[in-house]
Amino acid sequence: MALTLPSRQGAHYIETDVVLVGAGIMSATLALLLSELDPSLRTLVIERRPGPAEESSNPWNNAGTGHAGLCELNYSVEQPDGTVDVSKAVKINEQFQLTRQLWTYLIEQGTLKDPKSFINSTAHLTFVTGDDHVAYMRSRWAAMQGNVLFDSMRYSESQTEIAEWSPLLIAGRDPATPVGCSYDPTGTDVDFGVLTKEYLRIVQARGGEVTYNFDVNDIKPAGKAWLIKANHTGGGHGLVVKAKKVFIGAGGYALQLLQRAGLPEANGYGLFPISGQFLTTSRRSITEAHHTKVYGKASVGAPPMSVPHLDARVINGDKYVLFGPFAGSSPKFLKSGSILDLPLSLRTHNIWPMLEVAKDNLPLVKYLVSQILLPPSQQLEALRQFYPNADLADWVMVTAGQRAQIIKKDEHGHGTLQFGTELVVGGGGSISGLLGASPGASTAAPIMLGLLEQCFAERLDDWRPTLAKIVPTWGKNLADDPTLAQHTMARTAEALGITPPQPR
Ligand SMILES: Cc1cc2nc3c(=O)[nH]c(=O)nc-3n(C[C@H](O)[C@H](O)[C@H](O)COP(=O)(O)OP(=O)(O)OC[C@H]3O[C@@H](n4cnc5c(N)ncnc54)[C@H](O)[C@@H]3O)c2cc1C
Repeated sequence: MALTLPSRQGAHYIETDVVLVGAGIMSATLALLLSELDPSLRTLVIERRPGPAEESSNPWNNAGTGHAGLCELNYSVEQPDGTVDVSKAVKINEQFQLTRQLWTYLIEQGTLKDPKSFINSTAHLTFVTGDDHVAYMRSRWAAMQGNVLFDSMRYSESQTEIAEWSPLLIAGRDPATPVGCSYDPTGTDVDFGVLTKEYLRIVQARGGEVTYNFDVNDIKPAGKAWLIKANHTGGGHGLVVKAKKVFIGAGGYALQLLQRAGLPEANGYGLFPISGQFLTTSRRSITEAHHTKVYGKASVGAPPMSVPHLDARVINGDKYVLFGPFAGSSPKFLKSGSILDLPLSLRTHNIWPMLEVAKDNLPLVKYLVSQILLPPSQQLEALRQFYPNADLADWVMVTAGQRAQIIKKDEHGHGTLQFGTELVVGGGGSISGLLGASPGASTAAPIMLGLLEQCFAERLDDWRPTLAKIVPTWGKNLADDPTLAQHTMARTAEALGITPPQPR
């Protein structure tokens, strides 16, 4: 976009209500919610890339799983007594129900037109082999029984039945291998890139500004407001913006911007970058035979986001099957970032926690090194654990998005690696930023609702009636209210054209 703005000292100058740094799913969701809640609010999204959703929110850079706790074993934690704690899976599911309600509202209002362009029914399976893993799956299944959010799930240890759910998993497999598999037909595949673009299109149609090729490099307090400075990436005039509120949705670059803004709340954090790659195929014989997302169990030391999965995907309307991610190590905090990102992020307040994380997470470091060195024969071996008849000639390796996992000081001052997302809020709620990546895009709506509570508290009472229309169950626990849960899941499934709940 060409901003036609008054010039000050060789830079465009603009005053606005809210600046959102980054045009990924997080900023786009917040900008969209603000445009629903107060169309008169002036918003400006500033993005360093030439277009929206070019980093983690791009469909090629993430796995497109509508995370709902149906298949990801890192949300079902084995306890010392052999039972499985599924409370994380319940929480993720509750959050995803809020995201589904936002999409339903937009479809029902006619604001979003075609749900098929961004969400498709894709059953979520968890598949394991070997007696120990099967025993764990039985305990997980037992823990999920009776919870309305998992009412559509089935469980089997029969290769014949599993072959009906997902044939590629079983063809060519030794019939004597013990297998355990859960299957939930209500799972989804989501194109968060399409959603980001659609949200920003809606925001712009309502008068919000979105500007590309501007790299925000400085944020400073200016009285009760903030002064945001950005360079033009093509060498043109820079941009200076005065805004009452700032949200930093800059993905892996959010922490450095929070720290440059001088926020004490951002001290003590560091970032641990993890890159990823997927084996990808568009071969019709495979895309026509595989219609599910199948998650497995992580190897020892593997970070939770590196749990292997064999995914049917729809990307920009075309069908693919992806397998991975294979984790790797890169010092960049964004895919388009710099190899100096990690060294330049070291500060006196975070260098010790960072070193401690490397020391305390040796299995992770070892795992990352082993993944980088993984020869194609071992990549094929990993793929064949899911798809025994796979042939490497059908697949190409593509680079996925970059994750910048949070390192945080705990109460004893020790650095710990966190795999969730964290909203950092400062300046009395006038500035905030989002760190971390998991469960990520699927939970953008609840994360941004939480941001509204912290950063727009003074407006919340006025906005509650509209919010109740957008996300009717916000603040309620669906798991405790089976009637409301069933109604909500059926309503959103119908609006989004996806598989409705199938209670057993
Ligand atoms: C390999 C992988 C798999 C994943 N799988 C899933 C999944 O299956 N399901 C799921 O829900 N989530 C998944 N995620 C997580 C999800 O992709 C992210 O949580 C989500 O996309 C983050 O959105 P965002 O808007 O915060 O960041 P991004 O999409 O990264 O957007 C940040 C934007 O900020 C811009 N920016 C950065 N610095 C500046 C600056 N200084 N000035 C201006 N602009 C700037 C960047 O260019 C970028 O466009 C996955 C992530 C990865 C990496």
